[in-house]
Amino acid sequence: MVKANENFSKLKESYLFIEISGRINEFIKNNPDKPLIKMGIGDVTLPLAPAVTEAMKKASDEMGKAETFRGYEDSGRGYLFLRESVSGYYADIGVDLDPDEILISDGAKSDCGNLSDIFSSDNTVLVTDPVYPVYYDSNLMGGRNIVLMDSNEQNGFAAMPDYGVKSDIIYLCSPNNPTGSVYTKEQLQAWVDYANKTEAIIIFDAAYEAFIQDPELPRSIYQIEGARSCAIEISSLSKTAGFTGTRCGYTVVPKDIELSLNDGGKTSAYKLWCRRQSTKFNGVSYPVQRAAEAVFTKEGQAQVKKTIGYYQNNAKIITECFDKLRINYTGGKNSPYIWFKCPKNMSSWDFFDYMLKTIQVVGTPGQGFGKNGEGWFRLTSFNTSENTAEAMNRFEKMFYEMFQSS
Ligand code: PLP
Repeated sequence: MVKANENFSKLKESYLFIEISGRINEFIKNNPDKPLIKMGIGDVTLPLAPAVTEAMKKASDEMGKAETFRGYEDSGRGYLFLRESVSGYYADIGVDLDPDEILISDGAKSDCGNLSDIFSSDNTVLVTDPVYPVYYDSNLMGGRNIVLMDSNEQNGFAAMPDYGVKSDIIYLCSPNNPTGSVYTKEQLQAWVDYANKTEAIIIFDAAYEAFIQDPELPRSIYQIEGARSCAIEISSLSKTAGFTGTRCGYTVVPKDIELSLNDGGKTSAYKLWCRRQSTKFNGVSYPVQRAAEAVFTKEGQAQVKKTIGYYQNNAKIITECFDKLRINYTGGKNSPYIWFKCPKNMSSWDFFDYMLKTIQVVGTPGQGFGKNGEGWFRLTSFNTSENTAEAMNRFEKMFYEMFQSS
């Protein structure tokens, strides 16, 4: 009989969202007259921008005509028109990238997992806790040793390098899911210096970079000196432009990054990644790449920024409420996520049940993202403004009542 990849048995059941929907369904069954407000939504809710859908329609028409039909894309790395557009987007924040180093993907999740193909399974991987589970689980599947680094209240949910901890591949996510924390340039510089000194590689997940409003905060790791020799950046149009169901992202692999070989020689991470992609990936569809290109036009940028502004305004409704109630939180200002400490030292799941029962507002228990998430809770800004405002009105009332009764 064929042997299974035993590493899969090390994976924990991903029970978080199953458990949440189980508790919600039970509540609805017993309380059909009490409508819920879902503030745990991790997916975008507003439609694609008009510039994007127009470009997609035009490209679909091209595919229906013999003269303009396109089959396989040559390299599977993405059409040059899109790689140049992404390169222009980086240029706007002062980052100079050769379009060759930008590889188009069907989203950040695939590349977060697939990148591990180019690294030996002997490498030790460092992930922060709490964490977007894909980094952890994909490396468990690959049989790698994983070290967890604490992100917690003490370090503002921004774990910093520890020279006493040996790691080869480091996953960083900023703005962070789930905590909404954003690394400053100084903090990211410390990680880049650590990676260069210890010959480690950083995989930097910038899926939420478009939510950064503060011009002092880095939107790309390549805004940090020395990053080209140690960092791979993964990004996506999912949250930037509502592409969660359309699927398009990009990964930047600088040609400077080297990997060691058993014979003492070196190879290039870029070369291996291109080889990996040309073997296992046949590219993103032409209409989607044209749609993605439209995101980076002047018109597209104005439209997607308006949508992000809507979510940012929702985040503001939440953070203003928390400021008023003096609740300890991270995120919200430069991120769609708001991560806060459960009142009265409640556990994440107890607070989940309490909110559901008392105000019918649903969020995500922090404990589901790692041990340091216990006692913390995540709300998102992806609901409507009306629902967000109503949820926070209910929250405020609940909060005062909680403390009056003690
Ligand atoms: N990275 C992070 C941190 C995310 O939170 C998500 C999705 O929620 C992704 C990557 C996946 O993005 P994509 O839709 O591009 O696969």
